[in-house]
Amino acid sequence: MRRIGVFGGAFDPPHAAHVALVRSALAQLKLDELRVIPTGHAWHKARPLTSPQHRLAMAQLAFADIPDVLVDDRETRRAGPSFTVDTLRELRAQWPAAELFLLVGEDQARVLPSWRAWQEILQLAIIYVAERGDWNRSKPRFIAPKLYESGFKQLQMPHLPVSATDIRTRIATHQSLGDLVFDSVARYIDHHHLYQTA
Ligand code: ATP
Repeated sequence: MRRIGVFGGAFDPPHAAHVALVRSALAQLKLDELRVIPTGHAWHKARPLTSPQHRLAMAQLAFADIPDVLVDDRETRRAGPSFTVDTLRELRAQWPAAELFLLVGEDQARVLPSWRAWQEILQLAIIYVAERGDWNRSKPRFIAPKLYESGFKQLQMPHLPVSATDIRTRIATHQSLGDLVFDSVARYIDHHHLYQTA
C-alpha cells in the first residue's frame, strides 16, 4: 500500500522547521512520497499571502535536496479558498488504495475542528501532529478531541523555535536570518525583494 504524506501550509516563506518536519515524517512514517502543498487562498490567515508563484518557487528550493518530496501546486490552481478536505478527496480519488498521512504543526491541530469537513479529514487521513517549540508553553498543549483520539498521532521532531512570521519580521527589520531558511531561499527572497515591509 502506497504511503503518501501530505503537508500543507502557506510556506511564506518555507523555513528550517518545515524542512525538519518533512525529514522526520519521511523517516518515521516510511513514506513513499511526501507532497508539500502550498495553500492557494488561505481562508484562515488574516494577512494577504505572497503570490503563489513565489511561494511555490521557494518551496521547490527549500525541499529540492530531499528525495521523495514533491511540491504539489494543486491548491494554488484551484479557484476559491483552499480546503484540505478537497485536497485529500482528490488524492484519495487518484490513489484509492493509498494510505494518506496529514502532517500538521500543533497550532494547526488545535484549530482543526474549525476546518471544513474535519471529521471527513479524519476518515481520509491519519493525522500526525508535530509539537512546536516556539510557544514557551504559553499556549496549552494540543489534546485530541476525546472521540477522535485514535485519529491523531504524534510526530517526533526536534523543537525548533522558528516561524514564518518571525522570518518576515527579521527581513523587514534587517536582522540576520542565520540558518532559519536555506541559503537558496534567502537568495530568492533577496533577489525578489520579498518581505521588505513588516
Ligand atoms: P506563519 O508564522 O506565517 O503563521 P508558520 O511558520 O506557522 O507561518 P506555515 O506555512 O503556516 O508556517 O506552516 C505550515 C505547517 O508547518 C503548519 O502545519 C504549521 O503548524 C507547521 N509548522 C510551522 N512552523 C513549525 C515549527 N516551528 N514546528 C513545527 N511545525 C511547524
